[in-house]
Amino acid sequence: MSAPADVLVVGASAAGLSTAEALRRKGFQGGLTVLGAEPHLPYDRPPLSKQVLSGAWEPDRAFLRRSAELSALNAEFVLHDPAVGLDAEARTVHTASGGVLRAEAIVVATGLRPRTFAGQDGLAGVHVLRTLDDALALRAELMTSSRVVVVGDGVLGTEIAATARTMGLAVTLAGPQPAPLESQFGPLVAGQLAELHTGQGVDLRLGAAVTGLAERNGRVTGVELATGEVLPADVVVVAFGAVPATDWLAGSGLKVDNGVVCDSWCRAADGVYAVGDVARWYHSGFHTLLRLENRTNATEQAGHVAATILGESRPYTPVPFFWTDQFDVKIQVHGVLSADAEVTVVDGDMAQGRFVARYRRNGATVGVLGWRMPKQTRVRRQEVVDAFTS
Ligand SMILES: Cc1cc2nc3c(=O)[nH]c(=O)nc-3n(C[C@H](O)[C@H](O)[C@H](O)COP(=O)(O)OP(=O)(O)OC[C@H]3O[C@@H](n4cnc5c(N)ncnc54)[C@H](O)[C@@H]3O)c2cc1C
Repeated sequence: MSAPADVLVVGASAAGLSTAEALRRKGFQGGLTVLGAEPHLPYDRPPLSKQVLSGAWEPDRAFLRRSAELSALNAEFVLHDPAVGLDAEARTVHTASGGVLRAEAIVVATGLRPRTFAGQDGLAGVHVLRTLDDALALRAELMTSSRVVVVGDGVLGTEIAATARTMGLAVTLAGPQPAPLESQFGPLVAGQLAELHTGQGVDLRLGAAVTGLAERNGRVTGVELATGEVLPADVVVVAFGAVPATDWLAGSGLKVDNGVVCDSWCRAADGVYAVGDVARWYHSGFHTLLRLENRTNATEQAGHVAATILGESRPYTPVPFFWTDQFDVKIQVHGVLSADAEVTVVDGDMAQGRFVARYRRNGATVGVLGWRMPKQTRVRRQEVVDAFTS
């Protein structure tokens, strides 16, 4: 297969930029366009809920590359102009400003958009956190508030709760699970996470569904629980998940089902690929369609797709990895955890606040989780690799 004459990447963030860079690194000399919805050049999202939100970093530090590095890429960045339609057969993308872009290969890298409550738009004091502008708006409001309720007991919600707490706010974390992240980490490690948060003064109000928001005169005043209780708040952060940003693909001819559905090579159609959080591809090691929402995958999958576009033919079979930083704890996860796995602490000691837990199902290691033990966690990763390559 010969290299296409030109490539259009839709989505100018981690996965989109990594695709463009990997193409050039591998010698691609054709036309390269990166189309982005936001006004900003590519920036990194993990610091948004941590260093940017807390103010430890100036926002500029979150940008992935300096202007000179982007110029050296010899790619055209078309920003602040979202794609509104794709014709996969004609390989044509229409943009909100009326532009029409065509390329021999198109890479979909449009990530996710946050889930929200019906009617939350326009209600003052309610925030989501996905973009740099979201982070700056939330930070500005936290700086002048005293009580925040975070709705969402997953990774993002717990990170925001931890950061807001370190900023000195009274923080309540609400969500339906018995302990934060329990459906992923299982009760043992989720219990440790709950202890970490309560030990730092976060008020955990878990185990009850959040049914809506209370308001007065167009401003949020609290969060309503299924129990009838209302948690009072000056500010509410809604962090109960995100959905693939695929609205613009309606009528494109691509299969969209919880992401852009792809084959093992991350191909959605002839000449059309998907990467990063939006891609749901067939993982031939796990024998299932998989969509990952993590920073490492954004870069790894992009590198893989760049190679596929240039004629290499290998299925994409990564061992998933993500990390989260909360208070002074770094948690690292290799593999795929589940609440029903058998969990054993194999290194360190939970009571000492440093450990590695091994997750096994049907006798095979499906994942390892490290809690303030990065080196040992990396060593244990091999057990996951061995289990799914044997
Ligand atoms: C606050 C936060 C903290 C995180 N922390 C961690 C962490 O600690 N560890 C970890 O592993 N992962 C973390 N993640 C996840 C990680 O950042 C994502 O997995 C990664 O950003 C995915 O990259 P992406 O390029 O696929 O998607 P995104 O980064 O979401 O980028 C998609 C881009 O496409 C653009 N776009 C959307 N629609 C269109 C359109 N129609 N036309 C043109 N452009 C469009 C968007 O504006 C966006 O710029 C975090 C995410 C967030 C939001």
